[in-house]
Amino acid sequence: MKPIRCKLLVLGGGPGGYVCAIRAGQLGVDTVLVEEADLGGVCLNVGCIPSKALIHAADEFFRTAAYARGNPLGIRLERPAIDLARTVEWKDGIVAKLTTGVGALLRKAHVKVVHGRGGMRDGKTCLVHGDMGTQQITAEHVVIATGSAPIELPGLPFGGDIVTSSEVLALESVPERLAVVGGGYIGLEIGIAFAKLGTYVTVVEAEERILPRWDADLTHPVTERLEALGVRVLTRAKARRHEAAVLVAESGGREERVPADQVLVTVGRRPRTDGWGLEELDLAMDGPFLRIDERCRTSMRNVWAVGDVTGEPMLAHRAMAQGEMVAEIVAGRKRAFDKACIPEICFTDPEIVTAGLTVDQARAQGLAISTGTFPFRANGRALTMESEVGFVRIVARADNHLVLGVQAVGTGVSELAASFGLAIEMGARLEDVAATVHAHPTLGEAFQEAALQGLGHALHI
Ligand code: FAD
Ligand code: NAD
Repeated sequence: MKPIRCKLLVLGGGPGGYVCAIRAGQLGVDTVLVEEADLGGVCLNVGCIPSKALIHAADEFFRTAAYARGNPLGIRLERPAIDLARTVEWKDGIVAKLTTGVGALLRKAHVKVVHGRGGMRDGKTCLVHGDMGTQQITAEHVVIATGSAPIELPGLPFGGDIVTSSEVLALESVPERLAVVGGGYIGLEIGIAFAKLGTYVTVVEAEERILPRWDADLTHPVTERLEALGVRVLTRAKARRHEAAVLVAESGGREERVPADQVLVTVGRRPRTDGWGLEELDLAMDGPFLRIDERCRTSMRNVWAVGDVTGEPMLAHRAMAQGEMVAEIVAGRKRAFDKACIPEICFTDPEIVTAGLTVDQARAQGLAISTGTFPFRANGRALTMESEVGFVRIVARADNHLVLGVQAVGTGVSELAASFGLAIEMGARLEDVAATVHAHPTLGEAFQEAALQGLGHALHI
């Protein structure tokens, strides 16, 4: 095949890579994107989107089943059932729509997509092995956006009944008994969804509580919900092996035997630093991740890196923001990654959001802070949605009331992440949030009330 020369080569077509390529193409940069699987990466194909589709279907099923048992709303229903194969087909339709859309956006931006596995020979040359043979690409700039893969545990190698999130999101029937190893983001989002579909779920978590990266006030409502859903939670527990439909775990020196037809292992993800020629480039590392600076430059000139391969937080919106920035720099613009916050959302039941600094993080930085909190039990919209659990909390500087962070837990709070992020990015003070007219009745009013509470004059509590 005729070698290709271009200004920018992007290796990996996930959120980091495809956004970088689209933006570069829009700016007139001659760009080639290399992807060995489907466009959209983990996020669109087996991550963010499929998991949120499953969560939505499970919520709807659970609500309908609960209503069928009786409800105060006057809704009458027969006993509902779920056809998971049909649910998966629906989910696949959404994924196809989005990944086809990414292809169309790349074409519109005049990006050339080369399908196959890319391997860097040096900082400017990539050999792509695809169905049609080997394609050589030479570029002035290279962006590494190869993403991440699930971490495997020694006693539980992937295969058969030991599954990753990718397999569990494609199951065509509801498993009877599922053990989830790792009570973090993926384990709890997916574990709760299956519990709502009728699976007997056990969560095995190594730390002393689930969701250990979030503060206990935020995770408490999720723990209560797990109990209500009949999910068994083993903490300070390590899974060892799976034999004869039993997961053997060690907890407090005791052996626990957990009935499990399938075991979902979600103990974190590792950067994909293998299989694309890192050894040829000899880039500086930051632990297992590629080391980058505030412009996403690696240790080699004109070799950039974005997304999960560069470290925490391994989130799609961070990858996209980095990709967009690198494209602009390659096109000649002056940019640096100086975001005030990257919001994090756990799509559990109830949902958890954090943006900016938590109370502990602010105190660890030696900042004098004040907080304002407002509970959803005093919010009209929450009551009409039958969801009184949770709160919004604002962390602000004690001296000038600058908003440093916002946290929330409750049904539907994921949609509040945008206003939390905007307030922090714009340098809002408690007075700005309090003085903004928030539409009634909405969950967002809890944000305004939390600011008022921080100023000492909440109106509705
Ligand atoms: P990836 O999406 O991993 O894409 C990397 C791409 O590079 C892949 O398509 C891969 O095939 C390709 N590639 C790798 N090596 C080569 C090579 N040598 N040649 C060619 N191509 C190659 N994040 C959120 O923000 N919100 C969520 O709700 C959320 N939910 C998630 C749910 C699950 C179950 C999982 C697993 C993850 C979730 N994430 C979520 C994380 C999110 O998916 C990642 O942060 C995001 O996909 C990272 O984007 P990326 O571009 O860095 O890498
Ligand atoms: P995670 O880091 O969120 O959770 C892993 C959990 O496993 C932790 O609680 C950890 O203490 C526990 N653990 C580690 N080793 C263990 C062991 N041997 N036995 C039992 N428990 C053990 O990781 P994840 O859930 O695999 O998700 C990976 C990444 O994907 C996340 O860090 C996040 O960046 C991304 N993600 C984001 C979202 C979202 O934004 N809503 C959703 C899913 C995934």
